[in-house]
Amino acid sequence: MSFDSLGLPVSLVEAVKAQGYEKPSPIQEQAIPAVIAGKDVMAAAQTGTGKTAGFTLPLLAKLEKGPRAKPNQVRALILTPTRELAAQVQASVQKYGQNMPLRSMVVYGGVKINPQMQNLRRGVDILVATPGRLLDLYQQNAVRFQQLEVLVLDEADRMLDMGFIHDIKKILKVLPPKRQNLLFSATFSNEIRTLAKGLVNNPVEISVTPRNTTVEKIEQVLYEVDKTKKTALLSELIVENKWQQVLVFVKTKHGANRLVKNLEARGIRSAAIHGNKSQGARTKALAQFKESQIKVLVATDIAARGIDIDQLPNVVNFDLPHVSEDYVHRIGRTGRAGNEGLAVSLVCQEEFKLLKDIERFIKKVVPRRVQPGFEPGEPLQPSVLDTREKKIKKPKVAKPANRAGGNKKPRGVRNNFVGG
Ligand code: AMP
Repeated sequence: MSFDSLGLPVSLVEAVKAQGYEKPSPIQEQAIPAVIAGKDVMAAAQTGTGKTAGFTLPLLAKLEKGPRAKPNQVRALILTPTRELAAQVQASVQKYGQNMPLRSMVVYGGVKINPQMQNLRRGVDILVATPGRLLDLYQQNAVRFQQLEVLVLDEADRMLDMGFIHDIKKILKVLPPKRQNLLFSATFSNEIRTLAKGLVNNPVEISVTPRNTTVEKIEQVLYEVDKTKKTALLSELIVENKWQQVLVFVKTKHGANRLVKNLEARGIRSAAIHGNKSQGARTKALAQFKESQIKVLVATDIAARGIDIDQLPNVVNFDLPHVSEDYVHRIGRTGRAGNEGLAVSLVCQEEFKLLKDIERFIKKVVPRRVQPGFEPGEPLQPSVLDTREKKIKKPKVAKPANRAGGNKKPRGVRNNFVGG
């Protein structure tokens, strides 16, 4: 498939070709025609899939037609969890739309609101915003939505993880009910499905994995181990195999801190990155990790997603993820660009159900090992591969939001760079 056959205007096809893109990525192939056709879209895609162009290109194509934005009005609203992402999305809008007569703007917190209010006076065709600042602007009458045609939620799972659900609900209430909705999320947990239920209408569902995830090339193994012996086993594996740079995934922020403490006590230099760490602490940990001053970086899924560390030799799942897609995202951090990669999971008996779900999702049974001295008291049941296709479920069940350890950010820090 080529960019010419997606229904985009010539100016946009030229803009993407000028970027050196030869053909649309899978998400672009599916999302662009659907958005142009006016459909709602629910897409499971993370950074690296080309998702941003997947929604900005058809948005620009749609908005080029139709009346320009009137004063203080917005025609398309893109909500993102962080100002870092908001700025990136705005850069894409400008890059692709540079030859179009459309106005776009980005607003986020942590900077003065007055210049944003002034700029909004002329009206904008595309507004990229973080939820908190958008609400502040709305409350000050700086932004109006009578002309709103399209709403995009980008990285919806990260927005929920950062505690933005109430802000999002408030925003949804003030938007015109007749609009097109595009929902992008790396994973589709129950919480996201609940959000989607009240948002998208008969959506086109799209699911893709990152372009550069070569899961087949990654060696995957799991060690059967009792829960209480995981830390000791991890430190033995690091020492015995002389691992120099290990990204370790854990479920919770608290678990990340505890593991760092225990590894440090065993003489293994480690640091944690998660949503309760300041941006400064995260940047420092990452720099130390890249420069090999620390061996182990312990991260939660959401915190790891925003950071630029590819091509790691070793990734360890200290806890198995609850959402199977996260397993693929985690192990995709290793073995990139032809490098060898090893993804190790430490699995205890209580995690068998999660393992079963993951193996069904990746369509493969992960080879098992037992480290001498770490024989589990309660062995894992044998895996039998469930070959039924796993689909993205339609957003039917309206369960109340229920997140383990839900860490809501206080409003004052909602627009910083911190992930979960
Ligand atoms: P994203 O997933 O939107 O964060 O995009 C990831 C990267 O892929 C960005 O640097 C884009 O410029 C690039 N990209 C987007 N679409 C394509 C494409 N069709 N071909 C090659 N690169 C692309």
